[in-house]
Amino acid sequence: MYKLGINSVRQFFSLIIPSFRSMIICGECGEMFRRLHWNNRGCKSIVWRCISRLEPTVQECHARTVNELVLQDVVVAAINQMLGDKSDYQAQLQLNIATVIRASQATSLDNIDANLMTLQQELLQKANSKEDYDEIADEIFRLRELRQQTTVDTAARDE
Ligand SMILES: [Zn+2]
Repeated sequence: MYKLGINSVRQFFSLIIPSFRSMIICGECGEMFRRLHWNNRGCKSIVWRCISRLEPTVQECHARTVNELVLQDVVVAAINQMLGDKSDYQAQLQLNIATVIRASQATSLDNIDANLMTLQQELLQKANSKEDYDEIADEIFRLRELRQQTTVDTAARDE
């Protein structure tokens, strides 16, 4: 039986999880969980925490903070369990996930191309007026690499 691959699912959730905002409810106090960027002595992660523990509310809550990766695993396990052996269903879901990821990739490629275009024009202007254009050139190289990487990623996924 085919199981959803953890990598594509992680990508999928990094796209849709911010819209989970009002869907994750605390098992202890019934408040919503909030998504936070956590920085623990330079170690960065994304965690979810009950609002009662972030803001002064009437109730005291002891629900633990959940790392988003754990949350993803739980959701994936739940989806796999829910789908069981209905493989048509699963194939369709996999297809939908791939479509969402590819759509977001296309958008970011468009953004990169638009930025590249602007920067190339700026570089030309600076070069014409004999100004220093090192910084712009660096940014163009960085964007080109990013574009290359993004294209490779998309191709790898389409295989
Ligand atoms: Zn709570």
